[in-house]
Amino acid sequence: MTVLTPERRAARTPGKPTSLFIPELVYFEPDALSYPKGERIMEWVQELRIPYRMTTSHNRITNLPGEGELEQYKIAKRTLVVGVRKTLEFDQSKPSADYAIPIATGCMGHCHYCYLQTTLGAKPYVRVYVNTNDIMTAAKQYIEERAPEITTFEAACTSDPLGLEHITGSLAELIAFMAEEPLGRLRFVTKFQHVEPLLGIAHNHHTRIRFSVNSDYVIRHFEPATARFEERTRAAGQVARAGYPLGFIIAPIIWHDGWQEGYAELLAKLAEELPPEAGKDLTFEMIQHRFTKTAKAVIEKRYPKTKLEMDIDKRKKKWGRWGQNKYVYPDEQQNALREFITERIFEHFPASRIDYFT
Ligand code: SF4
Repeated sequence: MTVLTPERRAARTPGKPTSLFIPELVYFEPDALSYPKGERIMEWVQELRIPYRMTTSHNRITNLPGEGELEQYKIAKRTLVVGVRKTLEFDQSKPSADYAIPIATGCMGHCHYCYLQTTLGAKPYVRVYVNTNDIMTAAKQYIEERAPEITTFEAACTSDPLGLEHITGSLAELIAFMAEEPLGRLRFVTKFQHVEPLLGIAHNHHTRIRFSVNSDYVIRHFEPATARFEERTRAAGQVARAGYPLGFIIAPIIWHDGWQEGYAELLAKLAEELPPEAGKDLTFEMIQHRFTKTAKAVIEKRYPKTKLEMDIDKRKKKWGRWGQNKYVYPDEQQNALREFITERIFEHFPASRIDYFT
């Protein structure tokens, strides 16, 4: 199997669109083939002549091709596992939503800072679930339990589901389902641009599509194998014209040489490229860069040449929800970043809302 480096895959030739993800190897859990979605994915795999294998469970995948940990990691990121979601208890997803709705786990992107580096540990392959009806039934129960409150579900907690939509169609199903739920709302975030299959769906304004954006420096240095900035903003324009509520997550906000120019340019470019209707119902979320000691060790191993600054001495220690200290920027830097970017947001989008800075 030929393994291209993430950098080569991500070669962002100007004007050349970021291509759809085609896995190099697919595993099927046998139960998955009893669902129509599992069958459809199998047909797609056979049509494209992608090599595939059967596995009793994703936990038993131990024989991925490739020599050495790094090569196996890269291959795992191009490996798809098609299975059934067994745990239908949803995790909480604060501050972005009430619950995480699980339709996929893992991602083919190679963002150096991605938290999946540690949460997925030794299993970084991309998993999709074929029992979407079970997942929607569980979501309905959560909505009913919280009535008359509105319940919000985040579909991108453990993956970038838009990058997998051409394989699964799961977002389209969730959007259509949520459109009929007076007290249900869906949201997801993406670094990909393939929104076409979602544009014609009757969404009833119950789904907010957010794009993850950043300064040119951060995108160029730390986000290989994702869509280019212009592709994301073009897709955001399409989403706004289709009447979806729209949002941007600026994350991770990174203190780098020229950060003020970088983030000012980001907001100015967004304002330039978006249609005027996009500004009417627009949200921003801001997340400063953070890391744990475990994440730092993993990132340095997987992306040994990364320019990502992870110097503990320059950071402020903060107790993390998962029992590990995380390292954020000292207050002075946090405040400077928050204030500067907030001003730029309201300068260009005075009617927008900032949901949080964390
Ligand atoms: S696109 Fe998102 S989920 Fe995928 S690697 Fe990048 S940060 Fe992680």
